[in-house]
Amino acid sequence: MELSIVIPVYNEEENLPLLHRALHAGLANCRYAWEAVLVDDGSRDNSPAVLEQLAREDPDHIRVVFLRRNFGQTAAIAAGIDHAQGDIIVLMDADLQNDPADIPMLISKLEEGYDVVSGWRKDRKDPFLTRVLPSHLANALISWVTGVHLHDYGCTLKAYRREVLEGFRLYGEMHRFIPAYAASVGARITEVPVKHHPRKFGKSKYGLARTLKVVLDLFTVKFLLSYFYKPIYLFGGLGLALILPSLILLVYLIVRRIFWHVALMTSPLFQMSLMFIILGFQALLMGLIAELLVRTYHEAQGKPTYTVRRVLNLPSEE
Ligand code: UDP
Ligand code: MG
Repeated sequence: MELSIVIPVYNEEENLPLLHRALHAGLANCRYAWEAVLVDDGSRDNSPAVLEQLAREDPDHIRVVFLRRNFGQTAAIAAGIDHAQGDIIVLMDADLQNDPADIPMLISKLEEGYDVVSGWRKDRKDPFLTRVLPSHLANALISWVTGVHLHDYGCTLKAYRREVLEGFRLYGEMHRFIPAYAASVGARITEVPVKHHPRKFGKSKYGLARTLKVVLDLFTVKFLLSYFYKPIYLFGGLGLALILPSLILLVYLIVRRIFWHVALMTSPLFQMSLMFIILGFQALLMGLIAELLVRTYHEAQGKPTYTVRRVLNLPSEE
């Protein structure tokens, strides 16, 4: 199996047969053997039955994973990736807002030597105020914070080389951050405009609230990307930034008390400097604990602190 298309499904009964047809139409001229891994994310409509039927009719292309309950899109995607057998993994939505006809184009970009090809819904067909505008803001924020500049993090339609997905655990709404993670392990990334259609059947599972979750996830991602290997740099830096100025202030207050006989308590400065020194030490200690956790994490997983692109004249060479 060379190409796996991972598709999360939650209450998409009307879309599934159309999706199946669109996959065959879009991939008719594809040079790769392909499978579609459909993950039923605890649908409460007729989707499971439709999926079962598709799997029966088209066993060469359709694989189905049924989750026990609704775990959310990201978890469903993670399950799909875990069950996918292809060397190339394409993610997309089940609601036909993404178009499988774009997949060969994404793959030809991968063949140019990229590891991640990100779809960009240049002409997006979703409500402007609740979806498109917040998403523009979120994209600008994510690009700025992660330093990986993409127009459309939220577009599910993206193609990945399998290696860049390995070792990355997906939580919360994190599937959109895969490109930022991939960049941090040295993947080459590009983006291409893809088609986008309005949803014809079923309804969107998201609204404005999702953007907030995305922003919160961004904190985690930034922390993991920039400080995961050295959390002490963040916590310790914060700690020192609190301790040093406060210490100087404290010394000044004490000197003033001794030589100029100005009472320590004339203003809140004395308590403030003490408080910031204590906070600073807390931050430092938290950093040390985080360092211990990170070491445990890496050692427990046998995870190296680097990723290799290629080796020469070594047994692991392909
Ligand atoms: N989805 C899912 N689990 C959920 C919510 C959504 O698997 O809890 C799937 C859904 O079936 C669709 C994709 O995730 O294939 C994107 O969902 P949706 O179209 O509602 O999001 P939007 O396109 O509006 O951002
Ligand atoms: Mg959709």
